[in-house]
Amino acid sequence: PPQGYYTRRGGIGDSGDFITSPEISQIFGELIGIWYISEWIATGKPKAFQLVELGPGRGTLTDDILRVFSQLASLLSKCDVSIHLVEVSPKLSEIQALMLTGGKVQSNPEDKSTYMKGISKTGIPIFWYRDIQDVPSGYSFYLAHEFFDALPIHKFQRTEKGWREVLVDIDPEVPDQLRFVLSPSSTPATENFIQPEETRDHVEVCPEAGVIIQRLACRIEKDGGAVLVADYGHDGTKTDTFRGFQNHKLHDVLRAPGTADLTADVDFSYLRKMIQGRTATLGPIKQREFLKNMGIDLRLQVLLQNSCDAATHEQLLHSYDMLMNPKKMGDCFNFFALLPHHRLVHPDKKHKPESKSPLPPVAGFGELLLK
Ligand code: SAH
Repeated sequence: PPQGYYTRRGGIGDSGDFITSPEISQIFGELIGIWYISEWIATGKPKAFQLVELGPGRGTLTDDILRVFSQLASLLSKCDVSIHLVEVSPKLSEIQALMLTGGKVQSNPEDKSTYMKGISKTGIPIFWYRDIQDVPSGYSFYLAHEFFDALPIHKFQRTEKGWREVLVDIDPEVPDQLRFVLSPSSTPATENFIQPEETRDHVEVCPEAGVIIQRLACRIEKDGGAVLVADYGHDGTKTDTFRGFQNHKLHDVLRAPGTADLTADVDFSYLRKMIQGRTATLGPIKQREFLKNMGIDLRLQVLLQNSCDAATHEQLLHSYDMLMNPKKMGDCFNFFALLPHHRLVHPDKKHKPESKSPLPPVAGFGELLLK
């Protein structure tokens, strides 16, 4: 806990170790803000909602979403909106506080479940927590962007003797050097974390992601809302994806622990399995398809028309390319959503199929049709 990457370093952005979509373009967060507003309208504009972000980084994504909420203030005027950030990094929570409130926050407020609170520049209350379990219940929109890939994984290798766990050992030959070894026999993890129907020879399992997605599914099943997960990942096909980044370059995961960002692709098939049918799921769908369906091309045109200097035009086009180009972030990043079953299918559809008007489509996961 004191020497971990996110407690000591957590360098997101040009001067750090890795860059993320919200840091590249404001459009990214704006379209996600629109997605939540669209779900809020589709579910009958509830009187209140919480926006809960897991691992908010520098706070840029929430800031862009809050700008959308403030632009749509007349629509949201009767709705009680609050922001809830789940963050373990003391350094990043300070940066978030500065970005979102201008630094006007109260640390360790009387309410023990939250470790900091403040008011956004647009007048919306913001609360910080270390664990999702501390966030109050209620109709909520959850957001996890590049969060699940940061959680620790177990690695397993199929051998002639059965599954063996890949462990980290001290190299007896070289001082201060770590190495990977295979467990000589099965471990509690090999017994518990591998799906019986697994066909791959090497798998990475993130049980913490399984626990968190279950908690989120239980919450929206009970109180309503939606979960949007965006991350690089696959649908149960990839094997060895564990890697490190330092100063925007690949970094040996075993060298200088705590100084590099360690990451593994999110296995969306595992998340879906862990939800156990509690909610409906949509995706994973590629980032470039999701953003296109959300109207990124229209938004880009508006921003281009509104700015007249060449440098801004260049920057807008460059960042659009970063997000959308299949060779850059367009194909490897995915969007995945959890929604209560009744959001997609009328509860009494089986009995009276013609009696109800059709449910509004979920934005982003189907083609955008302009009227
Ligand atoms: N969503 C941001 C940041 C992604 S980096 C963006 O897209 O820019 C991962 C984030 O998750 C960081 O804010 C990190 O501090 C946080 N984090 C890592 N492990 C966590 C944990 N176990 N619980 C809560 N937050 C965590």
